[in-house]
Amino acid sequence: MTPPRLVLADQIIEGFAPDGAPLIHTDAAILIEAGIVVAIGPASAMRAAHPDVETLGGRGKVVMPGLINAHHHVGLTPFQLGSPDYPLELWFASRMALRDVDLRLDTLFSAFEMVASGITTVQHLHSRAPGGAGAVLDAARKVIGAYREIGMRASYSMALRDQNRLVYQDDQLFTESIPEAQRPALRAFFERFTLPLDEQVAVFETLHAELAEEPRIRLQVAPANLHWLSDEALEQAAALSSRYCLPLHMHLLETPYQKAYAQRRTGGSAVAYLERFGLLSDRMTLGHGVWMSEADIEQCAAHSVRVCHNCSSNFRLKSGIAPVNRFLAKGIPVCIGIDEAGVNDDRDMLQEMRLVLRAHREPGIDAPHPAAEQVLRMATEHGAATTPFGTRIGSLRPGSEADLVLLDRETITRPYQHAQTPLIDVIVHRAKPSAIEAVMVGGEVIYEGGRFRRIDREMVLEAIRESLAAPLSPAEVDRQQLSEAIFPHVKAFYDRWLPDEPGAPHTFYNSR
Ligand SMILES: [Zn+2]
Repeated sequence: MTPPRLVLADQIIEGFAPDGAPLIHTDAAILIEAGIVVAIGPASAMRAAHPDVETLGGRGKVVMPGLINAHHHVGLTPFQLGSPDYPLELWFASRMALRDVDLRLDTLFSAFEMVASGITTVQHLHSRAPGGAGAVLDAARKVIGAYREIGMRASYSMALRDQNRLVYQDDQLFTESIPEAQRPALRAFFERFTLPLDEQVAVFETLHAELAEEPRIRLQVAPANLHWLSDEALEQAAALSSRYCLPLHMHLLETPYQKAYAQRRTGGSAVAYLERFGLLSDRMTLGHGVWMSEADIEQCAAHSVRVCHNCSSNFRLKSGIAPVNRFLAKGIPVCIGIDEAGVNDDRDMLQEMRLVLRAHREPGIDAPHPAAEQVLRMATEHGAATTPFGTRIGSLRPGSEADLVLLDRETITRPYQHAQTPLIDVIVHRAKPSAIEAVMVGGEVIYEGGRFRRIDREMVLEAIRESLAAPLSPAEVDRQQLSEAIFPHVKAFYDRWLPDEPGAPHTFYNSR
């Protein structure tokens, strides 16, 4: 149990009013007891009422709610491990060659980057772990254990997925379409990821029971994407969500190929198809949504569906630019996910927020663009709402978990910032990780002055360096060869999938 504490600052951003107006306290303090925000008010009165309580912060400081990375998968980035930025569908083939990294070290690596940029909660979408139920459970426990070790809050999910493991077609059909000599290696690859649906559900249930008493770790349901789930698996995802009252996070319409896939499978739109399974509600967050039509957007708004905007990822994997201004115009709550990695190939939430601020500035004096306040709300309150923690995080309202970031205003503004520039504009436009003095989760300072309180970052980085200094294992060599052999067939598979002639330029914006 952490002792009571007062956090003092020139300005404290409590959160946002229902109409989106920021709630900012000047010369203020937050009283924290048992990890919870008990009160927020004028610093002098709070100090007088609690003279013996330990303090953090003070003059020149700014406090904001902890940031939420609402869509995250891995530690070392695919780029670091040898997979460059291809269009998503080719990238899946290229990623077959990734090296094996110890999951504890891997998870800690990105957790360091996240916490150092002000992220207190992550939505960890574990895309795949090879092997049987025991191996998948072990993988989940390693990831969860790493978050427990560093002290971060995490919403964990092992993605549900039961088909089309490489291209948007049945594994066996695709295997039969490639040269015979390459088929055994591809079959062996698929064999590693064939945990039956009922065993995937059993893994979920085991983890759910294990995490029942965990204050900072929750489980949620993540149907991976329409092409990865059979109808039976979609039904199972809906059933799990309602049985355990848990939110869902699902990739959808990330690329034009996924839009074409939905048309081929369902005769219509992916969003409309999900409605048949009862999957459209305020419990559902759709990751990406780049290729939603106006009708899709209206349907999502009508069902209070949320959207996770993965801006860097959409740029890097040539997915396009999500119609974020349309989402906002329809009142869809948008959150932010860094996905695999941001434009600097790291997990810097302050930079990702800045990218979201800049990427949707449509030409034209009266054309829409997100405001800095909207972007901060995406990265806090709206991100929180996509996790099982809900309204307990994402703001510093009394009763909330004390997850917060202490910033040094001088570091952000040196040597000068016009006094009338609103605080949130200053933070979203200019704050870098170097301005973060401390990060608190559940009332516990887990990061301060560039150091992690519970764990030595340098030791972990050194362990990663050492483990990957070894030459490729025979299994890694095999996967690399398979990836190279299969790549041209994956590329050929998508020929003529899009309405334009092959090779014709596709519009950067979703043309709807
Ligand atoms: Zn993703």
